[in-house]
Amino acid sequence: MQQHIDSYNFTGKKAIVRVDFNVPLDADFNITDDTRIRRAVPTLKTVLDRGGALIIMSHLGRPKKVEDKFSLRHIVARVSECLGVPVQFADDCMKAADKAAALKPGEVLLLENLRFYAEEEGKPRGLAEDATEEEKKAAKAVVKAAQKEFTKTLASYADCYINDAFGTAHRAHASTALIAEYFPNDKMFGYLMEGEIKAIDNVLKNAERPLTAIIGGSKVSSKLAVLKNLIGKVDNLIIGGGMGYTFIKAQGGKVGLSLHEDELIPDALEIMKEAKERGVNLSLSVATVCGQKFDNDTPQRIFPINEIPDDWEGMDAAPASLENWKKIILNSKTILWNGPVGVFELPNFAKGTLQIAEDLAEATKKGAYTLVGGGDSVAAVTKMGYADKVSYVSTGGGAMLEAIEGKILPGIAAIQD
Ligand code: AMP
Repeated sequence: MQQHIDSYNFTGKKAIVRVDFNVPLDADFNITDDTRIRRAVPTLKTVLDRGGALIIMSHLGRPKKVEDKFSLRHIVARVSECLGVPVQFADDCMKAADKAAALKPGEVLLLENLRFYAEEEGKPRGLAEDATEEEKKAAKAVVKAAQKEFTKTLASYADCYINDAFGTAHRAHASTALIAEYFPNDKMFGYLMEGEIKAIDNVLKNAERPLTAIIGGSKVSSKLAVLKNLIGKVDNLIIGGGMGYTFIKAQGGKVGLSLHEDELIPDALEIMKEAKERGVNLSLSVATVCGQKFDNDTPQRIFPINEIPDDWEGMDAAPASLENWKKIILNSKTILWNGPVGVFELPNFAKGTLQIAEDLAEATKKGAYTLVGGGDSVAAVTKMGYADKVSYVSTGGGAMLEAIEGKILPGIAAIQD
């Protein structure tokens, strides 16, 4: 049965906590952004303040073997600083039993990178490139069998399990999902996970209406599942950014050099048809800021969205589109934003994305619930200084995207089951 961190009795117990400490490090192994560590602190401190001891586990990067540059020892000092207590380190996550057993209430042990073991992800490593299907299958069976022992060993260190790693909630890994079965009555979400789940539910389950989704970014192909799920839920669907040109071309418009995917035109037509049948207001760009080269300093011109000349490329949303979208946004009670509406990395083509961030901030001020989640829109609002002016900014790119696709995330299901 799922427990709640607020009511669980941690006194004298050891909690093994999956966090996402996958922080960026510079060449000298200094942490360049410690947001992920700081976001886990409320959960970690709760366990310590309420008489428990902590065994913290995480991955860092994508190691394929033991590699010092991916060692979590580089972050021990910062974790200790954030928690205000010394942090012990187990330099092999499979050989931490003695250190874990010796932990007293208030003490903290950080385990070495879980992904130093293939068992964490349950994927075979070191397979020859020309391995046959049978060899691949056999290798997978071996690592899956070893994964059971790996998971059991991690579980043996503790009395209860907390998952606070939303960034890996879409993965069915040993530490993110499988371990939960060893704690049938002692498993729970941490505060960060709880916040993310609430944010998703606020939009996909309990939205106050009108509900609007703004979906931008580069390609329809990477967001097709998102669009298909949202079309059955939203009142307004704004499609902007590079994705939009496939829809314009599907309607017979001329998109010039703009990004588009011809093979996705049938899907775009299907989405437009479904929007019509369901009474969803699908709002595409009406005009676009174009450049002649994919370059910040390229000359700019605005064209009607379906009349882009052959040698021009749509790179940002134009004021006419942004005005339409602003009206929709300010009339909405719940708004989900995923994906920039222009090439925001180039400052001269970031105005549209900035305007959407401003509109969301205004809507939030007026009482709307606004969630920014999944991928580059998070980077955009953060870079533009709007992260604290919206209701919630998700910490999990891939996980949030899968949640918006309507998928059940293994890390969430393992606790709720
Ligand atoms: P995504 O990861 O799918 O959310 O896509 C984000 C990327 O979409 C960013 O790198 C943007 O530069 C890019 N993008 C947005 N609008 C356009 C556009 N009109 N043309 C090309 N790329 C775009």
